Formats: sequence, C-alpha cells, structure tokens
Amino acid sequence: MLAVVPRPVTVRVPSKVNLHLAVGAVRKDGFHELATIFQSLSLTDDVTVAIADEPGVEVRGEGATSVPTGGSNLAWRAVEELARYVGKEADEPKVRVLIRKGIPVSGGMAGGSADAAATLVGLANLWKLEISRDELASVAATLGSDVPFMLHGGTALGTGRGEQIVPVLSRHTFHWVLAFARGGLATPKVYGELDRLRATGEPARVGAVEPVLEALASGEARQLALLLGNDLQAAAVSLRPGLRRTLRAGVNAGALAGIVSGSGPTCAFLCADAEAAVQVAAELSGAGVCRTVRVVHGPVPGARVVNDEEPH
Ligand code: ATP
Repeated sequence: MLAVVPRPVTVRVPSKVNLHLAVGAVRKDGFHELATIFQSLSLTDDVTVAIADEPGVEVRGEGATSVPTGGSNLAWRAVEELARYVGKEADEPKVRVLIRKGIPVSGGMAGGSADAAATLVGLANLWKLEISRDELASVAATLGSDVPFMLHGGTALGTGRGEQIVPVLSRHTFHWVLAFARGGLATPKVYGELDRLRATGEPARVGAVEPVLEALASGEARQLALLLGNDLQAAAVSLRPGLRRTLRAGVNAGALAGIVSGSGPTCAFLCADAEAAVQVAAELSGAGVCRTVRVVHGPVPGARVVNDEEPH
C-alpha cells in the first residue's frame, strides 16, 4: 500500500511594532519586566513546511544570508519543540522548512519569532495535530517572548516578558511607513545599553498605558501618534545616533509621529491615512536616511495557512 505524503503547508505571518513599550526592572531570570502593546503589520514572512527525507531549513529573501540555517534557526527550534511536545522525538523530525523573508533580520520587528510561530501553525496542520491555540501558545512561549503574539496577531497587550497576551480593542486600520536601516541591532545589546543609560542617568520613560488603549479604541491616528512610546528608543539611538536623523526626516516628510520599532533599528512612522503614507514613503526614500522604505498597515491576522494564495 502506498503511504500518502501530506502536501506542504504554507503559512503567512506578520511582523510587529510596539506602540507602547515600558521596560521595567530586571527579573531574577535575567529578563526585564515588560508592559507593551503590540500591533501586527502587513509586512510578512511566508513559511512552508513539508515532509522531506532531508530535514533542515532554507532561507530566501530580505537579509537571508545573515540568518542561520542550522539548529539555532528559531523555525527549526519550533520544529524540535513541537515534536517533543507531541511525543515525536524518536529521531530527527523529517521536516523541511522554507522561509521567504520580507521582515528585516535583527530589525526590531520580531522576524525570527514570526518564523517560529508560522512553523508551529504549519506543523500543526501538516501533522494533523489536535492541538488547541492555547496549547500552541504555551509551546510558543518556550521559544521566545514575542512568539505567542505572532500566533495571535491583531493588537494586544503583552506583560511578563511580553509573552502573556491579552487582545486589545482597536478600531480602524492604521497606516505606517517603515524605514529599514543598513545592518541590524542585537536585542540583548540594546537592553544592555538601556541598563547602562539607567545606571548613569534618567533616560525618558513612557507614560501610562491606559491613554494608548483609549486612543486605539477610538481609532484616531492623530491621538495615537501623540502617545507612541518606546523605552528602548533611547538605547537604540545611543548605539545608532543616525536614527535621530531618520526619525526627524519621517516627521518632516509628513508623518504624524515616528518611533524606533522594538529594539530597532527599523523606524516606524504613523501616518494620517493610506495616501499620506505613500507620500511620506516617497519623500523619505529620497532623503538618504535609510536603506529602503515600505508602506504597511495594521493590525492584520497572526500566523495563518495560505496554501492557495500567491507567495509574496
Ligand atoms: P526582536 O524584535 O524579537 O528582538 P529582531 O526582529 O530584532 O527580534 P530577528 O530578525 O528575530 O531580530 O533575529 C534576531 C537574531 O536571530 C539574528 O541574529 C538572527 O540571525 C537569528 N535568527 C534565528 N532564526 C531566525 C529566523 N528564522 N529569522 C530571522 N532571524 C533569525
């Protein structure tokens, strides 16, 4: 009898920007206590998982050459973690993962976490697992702080290390321009720089989270723009002083506000509407302050199967 090999499964997964990122004290486990609001953005990676005799990871697209393809790739760690969780650990999982990257690597947009989340959703489908979203989220949390949100998508409040997610009411679609930098910033280095700045001075801290939640519920981009805040911004700018010029250029180009995305160095500019975003992107790309620009929107859904849609 012929064994039926399941068809490959392709999952599309968003990137994220932190609309509000409050970094608290360092915990006993070495992580910082966070209170953050994530928004998923339409800049995506596509991840295809397939049964294969030659297991492994292949990476194509934006920044692919700087992504590891061995056991340290977060997507491969997701394969191993899920295999262990469902008791498939007898030998190396016979799975091949193809990642088509649109999300900049080490850009502060959680690209690696996105690929891990996409791999979990893809494998649950490929292996026909009866596994709830909550169980998948618990596996996700073992892989990294941002992975549960990348499963979830939308707009959400993250606490703990950022892995405890509660959905947030967000009306309307927000329009953003992203400015990609040359080269990335390592997240641990940015947290280290924040610790250093806090040991020697008083870098600005974000305000309360409640007004941000109110602005999201109202759907008013202008109101939200006034409240965007990221405690890691001072540290990212300290390591990359050129980001100050990028942030200024976006606002001069007509954005309502600009912010460093997560640990940077990508900058995200909130715009009044889709048309304004296209204009800001055109002006910013001519200003010589970044490698390239993208017009995106959010919120969008989290990791989801897109087998019959065109790969991006
Ligand atoms: P975050 O915003 O979650 O801190 P980031 O977006 O700044 O992360 P990533 O692109 O997730 O950064 O990558 C961070 C590091 O992880 C890089 O050193 C990269 O080589 C490694 N990495 C491992 N797996 C992946 C993957 N699938 N995609 C991208 N980077 C990966």
